[in-house]
Amino acid sequence: MAGMHELSLVMSLLELCEAEASRGGFERIDRIVLEVGALSGISVSALRFSFGSAVRGTLAELAELEIREIPGTGWCLHCEETVPISEPLRACPACGGSGILPTGGTEFRLCELVVRDDRAGRHEDKGGE
Ligand SMILES: [Zn+2]
Repeated sequence: MAGMHELSLVMSLLELCEAEASRGGFERIDRIVLEVGALSGISVSALRFSFGSAVRGTLAELAELEIREIPGTGWCLHCEETVPISEPLRACPACGGSGILPTGGTEFRLCELVVRDDRAGRHEDKGGE
């Protein structure tokens, strides 16, 4: 099952890119910036792998994929403060308690889409063609 989740996320992302492209009238995406939380359950390496295989033949084929990993944080009911956690259901690093509510790091978000707009005469070729 590993990777299937990430692949479906990448497919949704590419659909979004296609929609943006047809609306904006551009034909190529140079850079995609994603935020992936440490508690999102998404594997960054699987995400990169899925992206690499799914973008072939799409307008994002030559896009650089940047993934910003957001650290996980949770609210400890015992300490009554925000603590860093590296995975869901993790014990509190301060008191060892298990009553932690995740408050950050669960996101999966498209932050930035840098497009190639040839009409503006913008050229930042990184080889290819
Ligand atoms: Zn605690």
